[in-house]
Amino acid sequence: MPRRSLWDRIKDVALADVTVLLRGGVRPGSLERLEEILLDADLGVATTLRLVADVERLAQRGTVSTEADFLGAIRAGIEATLRSGRSDAALHLPTASGGRPAVVVVLGVNGAGKTTFIGKLATRLREDGKRVLVGAGDTFRAGAVDQLRVWAERAGADFVGAAAGRDPAAVAVDAIEAGTARGVDVVLIDTAGRLHTSTSLVDELKKIVRVVAKRWPGAPDETLLVLDGTIGQNAVAQARVFAAAVPVTGLVVTKLDGTAKGGIVVAVHEAIDAPVKFVGVGEGAGDLLPFDATAFAREVVGA
Ligand code: GDP
Ligand code: MG
Repeated sequence: MPRRSLWDRIKDVALADVTVLLRGGVRPGSLERLEEILLDADLGVATTLRLVADVERLAQRGTVSTEADFLGAIRAGIEATLRSGRSDAALHLPTASGGRPAVVVVLGVNGAGKTTFIGKLATRLREDGKRVLVGAGDTFRAGAVDQLRVWAERAGADFVGAAAGRDPAAVAVDAIEAGTARGVDVVLIDTAGRLHTSTSLVDELKKIVRVVAKRWPGAPDETLLVLDGTIGQNAVAQARVFAAAVPVTGLVVTKLDGTAKGGIVVAVHEAIDAPVKFVGVGEGAGDLLPFDATAFAREVVGA
């Protein structure tokens, strides 16, 4: 979660401006300052403009007259944005769908935190008593398969590996077949993430989803996009590229332990209208939080 709240930063940079707002004197300059702070927190242009307009309206009406009112208005706006559109944070993992396990495909660029997320999710599902199988669809990078194997072993999940360079769609099929034969509940499939702008990666991801869907109607049940929460608006650009390639059913925003810019979560949700399902807050197996819009908005604002 964000290390320093929005409120801390508003106080640091613009207490004088906020005081002006609180008095109901809506000087254009003070609203611009607020706008800058919200943009700097990675809330994105659309959300920022809406929040500032809301605060301005409330201030003009004299409704925003205390610090608590001011914070409340921003917090309510953030929460409302997170709850708009597709916003169901629960994982959709149907049981016994036509005799196959639930299938989760995990996407994202290199270093976003896909493999770590799969390790954490496998741990969580195991703790819930689910039988889990993990498939190593990132056959592109040396070491990626072993890294996933270590996570699977630690979580107590089954593992289907692959030789370097093997077709990731074939690995996905292997994993779902093995999971079906072994009667597991959930199959988690890792993928490669070299340059999201590279056409071959997009084609590869499309192929994985197409091959799986053709063989097992309704699968994948979840296609989760993992985004590094520390890369600012690049995360929004990545989200758009992936969402244009395959239907993204949910977002996972990682590394929020290392940044004060939690607003990126709001921006990516708004950019592709996909629900945020988890946030990563560290490198350990337990550092994964199911997303809660109310708690998150509170944490970002600091109230
Ligand atoms: P992948 O290339 O997408 O599979 O990314 P990895 O899972 O290998 O993660 C890349 C790096 O980010 C590793 O060093 C992870 O330990 C680290 N990482 C992943 N998630 C988090 C997180 O939520 N917080 C922090 N601080 N580090 C993370
Ligand atoms: Mg990986």
